Amino acid sequence: MNQADIVIVGAGAAGLMAARELSKEGKKVLILEARGRIGGRIYPLPKEEWGYEAQGGAEFVHGEAPVSKALLKEAGATLTHPTEWWSVRDGPPSKIERLSPHDLQLEEALKKLTGDTTVAQFLDSNFPAGEHDDLRNFVQSWVEGYDAADIHKASALTLRDEMLDQGSWRQMCIREGYGLLLKYLQDACMQNGVEILLHKAVTAITVNQNGVSIQCSDGLIYQTKRVVVTVPLPVLQTLQFTPPLPKKTQAAAKIGFGGVIKIIIRFKTKWWTGPREQPFERLFFMLSKEPVPTWWTQHPEPHTTLTGWLPGPNAEHVKNHSDEEILTLALLSLSRIFNISIEQLREELATFKIVNWIKDPFARGAYSYSTPESKEAVQELHRPVDNKLYFAGEAICEEDANGTAEAALASGLRVAKEIRESF
Ligand SMILES: Cc1cc2nc3c(=O)[nH]c(=O)nc-3n(C[C@H](O)[C@H](O)[C@H](O)COP(=O)(O)OP(=O)(O)OC[C@H]3O[C@@H](n4cnc5c(N)ncnc54)[C@H](O)[C@@H]3O)c2cc1C
Repeated sequence: MNQADIVIVGAGAAGLMAARELSKEGKKVLILEARGRIGGRIYPLPKEEWGYEAQGGAEFVHGEAPVSKALLKEAGATLTHPTEWWSVRDGPPSKIERLSPHDLQLEEALKKLTGDTTVAQFLDSNFPAGEHDDLRNFVQSWVEGYDAADIHKASALTLRDEMLDQGSWRQMCIREGYGLLLKYLQDACMQNGVEILLHKAVTAITVNQNGVSIQCSDGLIYQTKRVVVTVPLPVLQTLQFTPPLPKKTQAAAKIGFGGVIKIIIRFKTKWWTGPREQPFERLFFMLSKEPVPTWWTQHPEPHTTLTGWLPGPNAEHVKNHSDEEILTLALLSLSRIFNISIEQLREELATFKIVNWIKDPFARGAYSYSTPESKEAVQELHRPVDNKLYFAGEAICEEDANGTAEAALASGLRVAKEIRESF
């Protein structure tokens, strides 16, 4: 390819979406991707091994998600609702109808919030420890579990919006998996002549009078007129910019970023649906207080997989553990939740995969979350440098969807529009 009009750093959802949009009108687009695959934090696992489109990264569609839903529809995907939610958080297994603030007091206090604070400050001011431990634990597990966030940094206003807007946490499953969406975007990019180079880890970006030069770890340098950087926030902090961009890196540091370890285990049978005290035939989500607290099935699909979700500060504690150690923690959790011995679980085990996103060099965590300083930080990152250097990705989204595939796709659309207008 001759010199590209636009270089996009990262072939995740944001990068592919931006590339598709920018290449529609004949612009030459080159994507430089550090991994040996596209998709980034969308990470479909081999169907041959799992028997279905298992996902090592994003799996659900959250809330309204207009951009994702439109794209999934174009791609021919089928969306379904998770079936039953169960919990063993407060004793024996019980079915839950909806996740909601379990206390009217909490709802009232959230409604009264005017300015933003951290969730920890909100709890301390309204629900002091000792008197309100149950409620505090509930809120903490929500923030850590759903947002992979630290309550000492997470925004109380975001908690309010999530808890009071029941639509924002409602999630849907994609029967064909997010891989379908990736392939759809990739095909569109290919048709428009986008070039995607894999194993191209960008290390340095220099903005000069003539345009931008982009250096990769293999020593090659790419020249272009505009560049869009879509790498996750912790990776952004490691890139070397010339001239230095302290405002951008400081802004990136003000947005929260949490870790997740995802544990996917295929068993020989759906042992949890056997003759038991509770009818788990339709079980989808199971919530607990175990070390790996959240699990889900693939119901109503026939797959014998359980997926474990180890988020936030708890994931940080075990991030350096081996896969075998994390598997043991996962089996211990399942054993207590379902009242089944670890030996039985080991006998049932067919295969497993631990995806430790905290240790992933090209993610360095799972996804962003809002802090009281996020709004301004996102605005700063939205502003291009000299109309040549742009930022996009799930964290840089003003539509209150940050942390999701929707946010990444929406930010890819936005940046493409801005760049088109700048030419
Ligand atoms: C475990 C997990 C579960 C999730 N579950 C859901 C879910 O159910 N629903 C949902 O909506 N969202 C979910 N998310 C979030 C969602 O996956 C992300 O928000 C979205 O995929 C991010 O897309 P992106 O393009 O912004 O970033 P990325 O997907 O991270 O894309 C950035 C790309 O840049 C590449 N890159 C990094 N460094 C360099 C470099 N130096 N040079 C070149 N390229 C580089 C990366 O390899 C990557 O391909 C989940 C995320 C994780 C980790």
